[in-house]
Amino acid sequence: MSMPILLLNAGSSSIKYQVIDAEDESVLATGLIERIGEPVSAIKHKTQGETFTADEPYPDHTAALRALVAMFDAHGPRLANVKAVGHRTVHGGSRFDRTVRIDDDVIQALVDLSPLAPLHNPPGIAGIRAAQEALPNVPHFAIFDTAFFAHLPAEAYTYAIDKATAERLSIRRYGFHGTSHNFVSQRMAHFLGRHRTDLNMIVCHLGNGASVSAIKNGIPIETSMGLTPLQGLVMGTRSGDIDPGIVAYLHRSGMEVAEIDALLNKKSGMLGLCGKNDFRDIAAAVEAGDADAKLAFDVYIHRLVFYIGGYMALLGGVDAIAFTAGVGENDQGVRAAVCERLAGLGFHLDPERNALRTGRAHIISTDDSPVTICVVPTNEELQMAREVNEAMGGQPIED
Ligand code: AMP
Repeated sequence: MSMPILLLNAGSSSIKYQVIDAEDESVLATGLIERIGEPVSAIKHKTQGETFTADEPYPDHTAALRALVAMFDAHGPRLANVKAVGHRTVHGGSRFDRTVRIDDDVIQALVDLSPLAPLHNPPGIAGIRAAQEALPNVPHFAIFDTAFFAHLPAEAYTYAIDKATAERLSIRRYGFHGTSHNFVSQRMAHFLGRHRTDLNMIVCHLGNGASVSAIKNGIPIETSMGLTPLQGLVMGTRSGDIDPGIVAYLHRSGMEVAEIDALLNKKSGMLGLCGKNDFRDIAAAVEAGDADAKLAFDVYIHRLVFYIGGYMALLGGVDAIAFTAGVGENDQGVRAAVCERLAGLGFHLDPERNALRTGRAHIISTDDSPVTICVVPTNEELQMAREVNEAMGGQPIED
């Protein structure tokens, strides 16, 4: 029996979607609605090798979901066959450690969690409400970015700040990109012919947002993002780790809280350091002798190496490391720079393998490398479809 599931990823002005048949894991449709709330919005819908587009104003998520339904009605696949809808949900706090069916309580919990994720949860909730209105007869599920890390050890998730304040405001490390870290660690174990429970792994999810995780015998024990997705690695536009004293200093120097938030989330990271956040442009600038781009690249690699080395210590040694997401999957220069610095710790990269672009999981280390280094394409939508299917009573699927 086919099991088509609609997966939605709602941002403040966009909704990405896919329909995946959880039975055979085939992709039946993909699409993107952009510029919601602007004078002219756009929807791009792909199914059976064809692309359909429309542009008209969608003032809010409800209007955007109506446009989505119209696209499916006109070009297929039939939405009436969809068995469930899965919603990517950024912040599940300490309450959600797995995919759950959405009811009024869950929506209220997401509203309550919104102060922890003001940029992400409100558009997610708008997307859920609009989709429930458009597709009222199927169950809707929330898949949380934080769920995979919900059981980090206390020593990893606890910030050393006043206990009462931390408890009152739910301040702790939550971690994000969990759907990707979960998927990639499973896929890497499968691809290596091993069980995740027998491996010490590090997963580097390097996209515009970036995070790294340490996974011991299938259980995550550390990850670089924190209360929010701002902590950790240097990212496209986010600072990652900084001295927390900088925030107070900026404030005392005249910046409002919202300005500081925008500075650290949108104008920092690679963009802040060299004016570019696409690694193709950064590589070209480094090549052309741009000193800012070179420093930005070096800072990025330094931070990543620092985390990987620390995670090796926490894991007590690592068997395999995966590079994934836009930068991790495509930028051989980043992988080479990281592995070169870690050569003394058993990272022996094979340059020819590293240069290969297969679009599939592949090993890029030498045959005798103590640490197996892999490129593993992530697929968050497929992981979401698997989790929804399982939440509906289907068999758990691992690679
Ligand atoms: P993601 O957030 O996973 O979609 O990753 C997006 C980022 O991946 C972009 O901002 C680029 O920096 C990077 N990226 C995408 N394609 C390439 C490529 N071919 N080479 C280097 N970096 C790339």
